[in-house]
Amino acid sequence: MAKICLCLTGRTLSRNLETLEKYRRYIDMAELRVDYLHPNERFLIRRFPEQAGLPVILTVRRKIDGGLFENGEGARVHLLSMGLAFAETDTRRNFAYVDLEEDLEVPGLEEAARTSGTRIIRSFHDLSGVTNIVQRLKGLWRIGDEIAKAAVKPQSLEETVKIYEAAYDTRGRDKIILGMGSFGSNTRILAEHLGSYLTYTSILTDTDIPPAAAGQMDPRDLVENFRFREITGQTSIYGLTGFPLKTSYSPRIFNSVFNHEKIDAVYVPFPAQNLESFLNLARTIKINGASITIPYKEEILSYLRDSSETVRDMGACNTIKFDTLGWQGINTDTLGFSESLLYFTGRKNLRSLKLTVLGAGGAARAVVSEIHRLKGKCLILNRNAVRARDLAMAYGYKWGNMDSQVLDSMERYSDIIIQTTPVGTFPQVHDDPFDAYHFKGHETVMDLIYNPPVTAFLARAQAVGCRVLNGMDMLIRQAKYQYQYFFNRDFPDQLITRLAEMLRG
Ligand code: NAP
Repeated sequence: MAKICLCLTGRTLSRNLETLEKYRRYIDMAELRVDYLHPNERFLIRRFPEQAGLPVILTVRRKIDGGLFENGEGARVHLLSMGLAFAETDTRRNFAYVDLEEDLEVPGLEEAARTSGTRIIRSFHDLSGVTNIVQRLKGLWRIGDEIAKAAVKPQSLEETVKIYEAAYDTRGRDKIILGMGSFGSNTRILAEHLGSYLTYTSILTDTDIPPAAAGQMDPRDLVENFRFREITGQTSIYGLTGFPLKTSYSPRIFNSVFNHEKIDAVYVPFPAQNLESFLNLARTIKINGASITIPYKEEILSYLRDSSETVRDMGACNTIKFDTLGWQGINTDTLGFSESLLYFTGRKNLRSLKLTVLGAGGAARAVVSEIHRLKGKCLILNRNAVRARDLAMAYGYKWGNMDSQVLDSMERYSDIIIQTTPVGTFPQVHDDPFDAYHFKGHETVMDLIYNPPVTAFLARAQAVGCRVLNGMDMLIRQAKYQYQYFFNRDFPDQLITRLAEMLRG
């Protein structure tokens, strides 16, 4: 089972011990990053393993390898020697591991390590990309008891595929293999799948403790959200792709449901600069199903061997799953939206109601097709009026630009107003997509945005007495349909409220 290692990057040893205490139950071991310590503290490292009370890696990382140490090789070897000196017979008082880079050839250090029962991690770091990992790893396994470590920074998801392939090619050998940066963070969650000895984590919540490397996860997030300790080589992989993939609540939703339903699966974000790279990765690591988000909801259609009627009608797909012959797709934004709105309004349909939809992008397409199915009348307003017209004409609806000339029409279509543009999303929380419209108080207003929970647009509506709904409930309900599609089983409805509370919390 891959271990969770916490990188300690505090300026002092006492700060590092404090951090350890706080996170002890989420981790199996720690890495003391001596290069982050204040120079005066570096001479006190020898007693740290005993104080820490768990296995500790001794590391003094150079700048060229992504660390902070700049004082030359002599000084670095001296610090490493100090850490390994005075071997204790009780090996818990010694460093359990020492990280020695592939080009650091100091036989005295290796001998000191072996005398203290300290296992050598023989590492290489490549921040420029992913090349020849298998050959380089093979070059590192010089003496049987060493752990080879490859830490590389993929520049794209195509390069991340090479990390997985290298891990499969070296299956069964003791190694640490990981991808740094945003394209590599999935390898940190799937360390066990890769056969990696450990995954490195950093504290991402304390401002005085910097993360040791880009893309590292917080150990608490890894354990509580991604259920790292339950992931095995057999765990089914699901995920989310898009670009840029900003903070998404979907991993929390899915991983919580997997936990609740005791399903051996994990849901991982995979930001991808192009869709093809995600599909290659999916084939390589056998991703069973995925959520598709901006900007790939249309492009994915050309990769589907089968799709639902809604997907074909709307030209947008947000959910795919793999069967033996290829990818199939559905769109769950549709039912997620309508179920949320009907639940909120206590209605069975939208008959006799006049609605305005702001925006004419992918989400608006799902919204408008549901308004049509539920027999509502609709006015579509968009910054680019041509897109509004194209969408409206497919359903015989009215359309217009988002400017003051449409205010009279909008007042006539104001039973329900649905805001589908991203304007007002965190961190641009003060932006308002259509401040020319003044709410009267009778309107029901829905904003598909869920972060922040009350957008500037909703706050204006709420201030004059409108009933308002954000996009959180829709997000959970569309995930419910994704879950049903992935697993062919019902979603526990009682979880909807619980998930909403968890995400709000
Ligand atoms: P999209 O396809 O990129 O469409 C964006 C729409 O917003 C377009 O109509 C665009 O107008 C308009 N827009 C963008 N920037 C604007 C600005 N500065 N001023 C005025 N209009 C602007 O995106 P999408 O897939 O429809 O997603 C839209 C939003 O819905 C996102 O915030 C997304 O997170 C949210 N969403 C939420 C859920 C949920 O479950 N709650 C589900 C799906 C989507 P132009 O045509 O003029 O460019």
